[in-house]
This record gives sequence, structure tokens and C-alpha cells, in this order.
Amino acid sequence: MKKTPSMQMFIDAATRLKLHPYMMPSANLSTAYTNPDGIARAPCQYCGYCERFGCEYGAKGDPVVTVIPVAKKTGKFEIRTHSQVRRILHTGNKATGVLYTDVTTGEDIEQPADIVVLTSYVFNNVRLLLMSQLGKPYDASTGQGVIGKNYAYQVTKGNAVGYFENKQFNNFAGAGALGTTVDDYNGDNFDHSNVNFIHGGMISLTPTGYRPIQNNPVPPGTPAWGKDFKASSIKYANRALTVGSQGSCMSYKHHYLDLDPTYKDAFGDPLLRITFDFEDQDRELAKFLAQKSADIVKEMGANNINQMKDLGPYDITTYQSTHNTGGVIMGSDPATSAVNTYLQMWDVDNLFVIGASAFPHNSGYNPTGTVGALAYRAAEGILAYRKKGGLLA
Ligand code: SF4
Repeated sequence: MKKTPSMQMFIDAATRLKLHPYMMPSANLSTAYTNPDGIARAPCQYCGYCERFGCEYGAKGDPVVTVIPVAKKTGKFEIRTHSQVRRILHTGNKATGVLYTDVTTGEDIEQPADIVVLTSYVFNNVRLLLMSQLGKPYDASTGQGVIGKNYAYQVTKGNAVGYFENKQFNNFAGAGALGTTVDDYNGDNFDHSNVNFIHGGMISLTPTGYRPIQNNPVPPGTPAWGKDFKASSIKYANRALTVGSQGSCMSYKHHYLDLDPTYKDAFGDPLLRITFDFEDQDRELAKFLAQKSADIVKEMGANNINQMKDLGPYDITTYQSTHNTGGVIMGSDPATSAVNTYLQMWDVDNLFVIGASAFPHNSGYNPTGTVGALAYRAAEGILAYRKKGGLLA
């Protein structure tokens, strides 16, 4: 991907600070390309409408456009839209199919299957297993059980926003995964002897495309509404840059997912309940990453910096991240994990549970790459299971 001038500023500043910036990997195409499966994609136009939107230019490389059309061509693949899977059917320790409701007619339909692959995101993976009474539910009071265990999030608020009086950036342009990052404060890449946390996080500048209304960067001290706020948000729309982090998140015995005893969905099925808050580990990590982010923004030449001071309690109402992990974790022991390294359920050998639900904790990265790698690993396991059956590991 091309570097924006702001990315070049980040690279130069990070290099002066003796850090090691690199371009983030992305699934936006930098040039026209036809892959070995015959899928042609166009070069990215940096329109800034990647996140939460489809690409009208055909430049994204996500599985919706690279995998599903190839599967459809085989004639052995069918998507049934408007279908809400509500139970995984099973007899003893074998899954026998799924029960789903056609939401357009309200009809309940049983779909038999030799192998069931559960790919419904972290929360629904856990919810469907619990509602289907598959695997032992986690009990936080005893630490026993596995389904719902090790929920973790991502510590994303360790940020600093720099305001530049004499520079303008085209912040409306960008792409979903366009960015440059440093890993010098991630994992064990640095000396932890003087900090009160383990692990770390990546620090990045990601010009994803500021959208009006959603983004109103205003310097500290600006009123949160009214005439001055409007004038300031117009002035700084293209004069502010955020250097932000994605911090790791450890698992705790008292952070978990279970079925809500009160709230139900339209079908009368229980919703999923999250029991979680940030810990001192997360607060210390966020503060540290915010300071390192501010150091980079300062080196980039910002006149004014708004740096995160306190992580505060977990708040689900403000978007922070979709990087939820855990609940159906991978491991080597059925007593402490739900799936093996092929994401095959220990208790039900023809059920594979795919996604970041397999992560025992969340690291200081976007989970997508690992989720993709685990999906390939599971595919290998499914092929092996079809040949010889039984538990693979
Ligand atoms: S920024 Fe995203 S949505 Fe826009 S052209 Fe590039 S890939 Fe497509």
C-alpha cells in the first residue's frame, strides 16, 4: 500500500526515536491482481470507506469475494440466508446437524450433517454450545468447566491525538488496514523490569479515513458542543492525527461468558452475558502505551497533544474494538480447554469451532491473521477427520 504523508511522518519520528516502524499487512490490494483461483481484484483507491462497508471498487481481498465464489463454483456449496441457527443437534458425543429458523417464514428446519463447523463469531460460538448443552459450561466459582472460559478483550485506549497548527492532512482518504506500526513495545520485545504489567501492544498510525460526524477531533479544553465545538472540529478535521495502540488482554478466572438468566432474544433463547472489566494490568499497560504514543506524536511535531490518562471501567456503549476472544479455547488438555489444536471439540469429534473463541488470551495485535491461520489449520483437521475419524490430537 502507498504511504500517506502522515505515515511518512510517523516512520521518520519513530526511526528518530530508535524504534522499528513497518507497513501493516492488509487485505486491500495495492495493484490489480488475479489470484490462482481466478478471482480478479482492482487496486485500492484509498476512498476511506473500507471499515463497515463493502468495496464498490472491488479492491478488498476478504473471503466474501475470494473464497465464497470459488466454493459456489464447485456446485457443492449453498448459502441459506435469513437462517438463524439456534441449536447444534447431537446424539451422545456426535453432532448430527443443526436446527435453524427461517426468519422469513418462522419455520424451524433440521439440517442433518456428518460434520458441523461452528463459525458464528466468538459470542455466538459460545452461546450456541451452551444452548445446545455441548461441552461443560465454565463455572467461575470453582474454575471448572470450559465453555465460556477465558473471555478477553483488547486494550485499545492507550492513544494520543496530536493537533498540528501548520499542517493539513487529507484525513478523509485512507483504507481500512492502511497503516504503519511499531512492535518495540509488544510482547516480550522490551524490558519489563520497570513496568507493572506483562505483555504489551503494537503502536500504529492508521489512516483509515476520517468520516464526518463520527470523527470530531478537537483539542483538550474545547467545549463538547455548540459554536466553539463546531468551529474547532472543522478546523482540526484535517489537522489532527491519532497514534493508537492495540494492547494485549490477559484472561482471568472471573472474566467469562455465560447465558443470561434474564434477557432473551426474539425466539425466547437466552442472550449471552459478558462478565468482564479492565484490571490493573490493563490500566498500567494502557497508560504506558498512551505515553509511548504521545512521545511519537510529539516527535512528529504536534503543537498540542491529547493523551489518554486513565483507562476507566469497561464501557460497552462506546466503540473500542470488535476484538473479542476466548470462550471455546484451544489447549492440550480436555479438562482445561474446549478444542484441540485443530479446533476440534474434545467432547464432540465431528464438531469444529472456528474463530478467536479459540484464543486463551488476546495478544497485542489484531486477531484476524491468527483467526485465518487457525481456519486453515481446522480445514486440515476436517480433511484428516473425514479420512480416519476420531480425535486428531
Ligand atoms: S479504501 Fe477500501 S473501500 Fe475504498 S477502494 Fe480501497 S479497498 Fe475499496
